[in-house]
Amino acid sequence: VNEFELIERLTTGLPLNASTRVGSGDDCAVLDLGLDGQWLIFKTDAVVDGVHFDTSALPEQIGHKAMGRCLSDVAAMGGCPTHALVTLGLPTGFDALRVERIYSGLRALATRYGVAIVGGETTTSPDRLFLSVALIGTVERGRCPLRSGARAGDAIFVTGELGGSLVSGRHLTFEPRVAEGRWLVERFEIHAMIDLSDGLAGDLRHVLKSSGVGAELQVDAIPVSAVVRGGGRLDNPSEADDATTKEMGGRLKSALSDGEDFELLFTLPAGQAVELMDGWRARFGGLKLSCIGRITSGTEVTLRGKDGIRPLELDGYVHFKGT
Ligand SMILES: [Mg+2]
Repeated sequence: VNEFELIERLTTGLPLNASTRVGSGDDCAVLDLGLDGQWLIFKTDAVVDGVHFDTSALPEQIGHKAMGRCLSDVAAMGGCPTHALVTLGLPTGFDALRVERIYSGLRALATRYGVAIVGGETTTSPDRLFLSVALIGTVERGRCPLRSGARAGDAIFVTGELGGSLVSGRHLTFEPRVAEGRWLVERFEIHAMIDLSDGLAGDLRHVLKSSGVGAELQVDAIPVSAVVRGGGRLDNPSEADDATTKEMGGRLKSALSDGEDFELLFTLPAGQAVELMDGWRARFGGLKLSCIGRITSGTEVTLRGKDGIRPLELDGYVHFKGT
């Protein structure tokens, strides 16, 4: 049983109640607690020593990442984060100063987004340190983009640049796209949105599966990060007949499947694309926004490039040679 199969088993037939608008399976849960004009969104996430960070991470960055991951999920709902609870698992013989520094990273990011930390829990975790954050926020009633909302003909957009997040250390310092997510849902008809944690190939699949649609991506439009463009993480280009194509394949694969980008992927009616690009440039000029393709009525994911159309595998593997 792998992780996804286990999650499937554990989340089948979970108890829900009348106020549950969206339960397990999206970036956040969505709850209707009778707030005037607003739904509540609810999320928990954890970072674990040796899994989400290692000894190369500064303590402040560990706290930043723990809070940032939750904020990124709230951003994917177009939500406004409000309150957090923090659970800290401390190993035997923990270094108090290091833990204080972790907490200060967490507090700094929470403060920047107006998130109140209203409690939590400290427990012993004999083997290793972990940090778990639960976050609530609000979103306008009926304006919360779900994974299931993509429609054939939608344009697909991603913020920022993708790939190389682990190699470059960006996974410890990323800025969650909360302001961007808010801006998008306030001004445009965002049909579906997700934050990129597993890599574009995997996270796009989540949207397509939930929505019952397919996608065609434009190879040239996928924003490959500078660190990947600079030569990190290439498949052995020397083994290929066509080194250039193979090298592009390696870089593209990195952008599609490295993961932990914490950018937003969203879809909206193609007719809103030009207005979106203009508005984005005026509001978030420094942050790239790319239209990477369109939603199709099939169930396939294909990549359109110079040498034709190729299927995209689940893990981001790109068939550049033959099919
Ligand atoms: Mg997410």
